[in-house]
Amino acid sequence: MARVYNFSAGPAVLPEEVLSECASEMSDYRGSGQSVMEMSHRSAVFQAILDEAEADFRALAAVPGNYKVLFLQGGASQQFSAVALNLCALPGAARKADYIVTGQWAKKAYQEAARFIDAQTIASSADETFSYIPDCSDLPIRADADYVYICENNTIYGTVYHELPNTKGKVLVSDVSSMLLSQPHDIGRYGVMYGGVQKNVGPAGLVIAVIREDLIPQDDIAHCPTMLAWKTQADAGSLYNTPNCWAIYVCGKVFKWLMRKGGLAAIRECNEAKARILYDFLDESELFKGTVRACDRSIMNVPFVTGDKELDAAFVKAADAAGLVNLKGHRSVGGMRASLYNAMPVEGIEALVAAMKGFEARHKN
Ligand SMILES: *Cc1c(COP(=O)(O)O)cnc(C)c1O
Repeated sequence: MARVYNFSAGPAVLPEEVLSECASEMSDYRGSGQSVMEMSHRSAVFQAILDEAEADFRALAAVPGNYKVLFLQGGASQQFSAVALNLCALPGAARKADYIVTGQWAKKAYQEAARFIDAQTIASSADETFSYIPDCSDLPIRADADYVYICENNTIYGTVYHELPNTKGKVLVSDVSSMLLSQPHDIGRYGVMYGGVQKNVGPAGLVIAVIREDLIPQDDIAHCPTMLAWKTQADAGSLYNTPNCWAIYVCGKVFKWLMRKGGLAAIRECNEAKARILYDFLDESELFKGTVRACDRSIMNVPFVTGDKELDAAFVKAADAAGLVNLKGHRSVGGMRASLYNAMPVEGIEALVAAMKGFEARHKN
């Protein structure tokens, strides 16, 4: 069967080249006589895979030397608690953090932190179904807040921060799950940046966390489970326990693929051009409309509606039959959502727009 165009928000499309490489090495990884799924995580052959993946990630994302890059399990959701437990265990921490709530993932992160520390929402776009990014130029950040938290690209609602908030000198923590390696990251502006890889970079079950070294508490972590303490994995080079070896291996291949594409500045240009095709059509369409304030649009996740639930469902069904799959919107927004991650080819978006045009023509009165 021919491959479909998969617009899923995650797990999501991976580069076909990478899948073919994985297939060719499946039962015998480079003469080791084993697949990567079978080998010991303590073996030299796996250590080389991990080291190369970390080196390539550092090169791609231009990670400064004073940041650790950790390959963790538990999903992005596990970092919701890890962030609060680690940053509030630093010497002199006030155990207070300020959250900007721009969608469900930021809200969940806030709620999780609030179980352990004094977490406060300092801005929110809940009043308009998270369809915009609030003005973050002068927020009521507490003078003793330990950090300011954002979810930078809102996977469900399709918004992105085009400018990072003014944190008034506080450490910025960002969940970049649905935009990881989709554009250059100015790592030095973050204390902690992390993302689940299954949105834009690899298979599910792996989180890449980039953490400034001085933000990894070295003691006083008695209240923090061993597995959630960043120090545990930092000291062990992401090998405290068995990592998701397979996901690390596939991500390593995606990093190489991104390098062959010219790196993150080049991939951003591709991603912008791809998103423009869909947004340009949405702006001229009489049937389909984007749901997000234009200046806050994400180039990764594009929600849109017809305004009629039955038509939405009919479009999703027709698109699916044409090999354009996983376009159903999140239940909290309704309608459709097209995720246009790195590995979505431009032909996929052209096919989507052609399908939308055809559907519109058939449903004009
Ligand atoms: C998908 C997603 C999550 C949750 O990821 P899990 O790996 O399933 O825990 C968190 N934040 C954002 C922005 C996401 O897109």
